[in-house]
Amino acid sequence: MSKPDVLFVLSIDTEEEWQWDEPFPESDFAVDNVKHLPLFQYQMEQLGIRPTYFVDYPVLDNPTSLEQFKQVIKHRQCEVGAHLHPWCNPPYFGTTTEFESHVVNLPREHVATKLDALIQKTQDTLGITPQSFRTGRWGINETIFELLVERGIWIDSSVYPMYDNDYFSCYDAPFVPYYPDFGLPNFAGQQRHLLELPVTVGFNRMDDETGRHLQTKAEKGIWHYCRANALLWHSKLLRKLYLSPELSSIDDMKSLVDNCLRQERPVIHMYLHSSSFLDNGTGFYLDKDAHKHILDSVTQVFEHLSQQANVTCATISEAAHLLGMQNQVSSRIHPLSASRQDIRMVS
Ligand SMILES: [Zn+2]
Repeated sequence: MSKPDVLFVLSIDTEEEWQWDEPFPESDFAVDNVKHLPLFQYQMEQLGIRPTYFVDYPVLDNPTSLEQFKQVIKHRQCEVGAHLHPWCNPPYFGTTTEFESHVVNLPREHVATKLDALIQKTQDTLGITPQSFRTGRWGINETIFELLVERGIWIDSSVYPMYDNDYFSCYDAPFVPYYPDFGLPNFAGQQRHLLELPVTVGFNRMDDETGRHLQTKAEKGIWHYCRANALLWHSKLLRKLYLSPELSSIDDMKSLVDNCLRQERPVIHMYLHSSSFLDNGTGFYLDKDAHKHILDSVTQVFEHLSQQANVTCATISEAAHLLGMQNQVSSRIHPLSASRQDIRMVS
């Protein structure tokens, strides 16, 4: 049997480090983690992987991390996208609480001026105008989509399938690239100005929609009270998995990759945060050998994928181009797509 063709995208939220369980800092943070990125980029180049760095304002504003990041991009074997952390991206509009930390909760004018400052900073420091974007803390809405398109950004990766919180839900979002309906970001729509390229989330077994159906019952339905989620996980009957070295073991990521290939997904999209490179860092950290853990994870999963498929490595905008945009992407998402009329009928 011939191997399937698949694209491999690796994206890194490139940002400051701070104590994630403390208030959102406007300035009380560090950017030491960026010193790991030049070596990591070199290691990725040896593997042929073409990372996408979603870079936020503090990394570009600090002279030391800026110079370190310039080393990352010197061979132009990667892409620079934009990453908006509203609490440490000027202009400021007061204290950031949990509510304001989510971009989806901010007034249009606040998002617009912060985005403008971020894009301007990226142009001034790196000479690059970002084409791709990810919100800090995930989540997106119609206002943000419109502001991105107005600024020439045509790829978004703020959708985190099967995740929700008090302020937004990506729970039902497609697992594969799609043209979002701006008013209903979890559904495909008619617009062709912006492509959504979600990170890879899925299951160790079962087809995507059966897995989603059962997982939803286990997390949110009546089964929730029977602790079905834990039972499914520990028995390995069904595991919801994220393609990130921060959250998943190498073996789990391999089984996720295998299942994605069985589902004929066109893109495998791994992601992580730059702060995870720090030993004893913040967020998703390891006590020691964090950089080695990330490198080993990426390498082993990528090599496994390469044995199973014909892999083309791409930055996120290269992946969008290679997908052929309109035709291939929209046909791939057919099982999940719905017209606006259909969505209104069920909502
Ligand atoms: Zn972030």
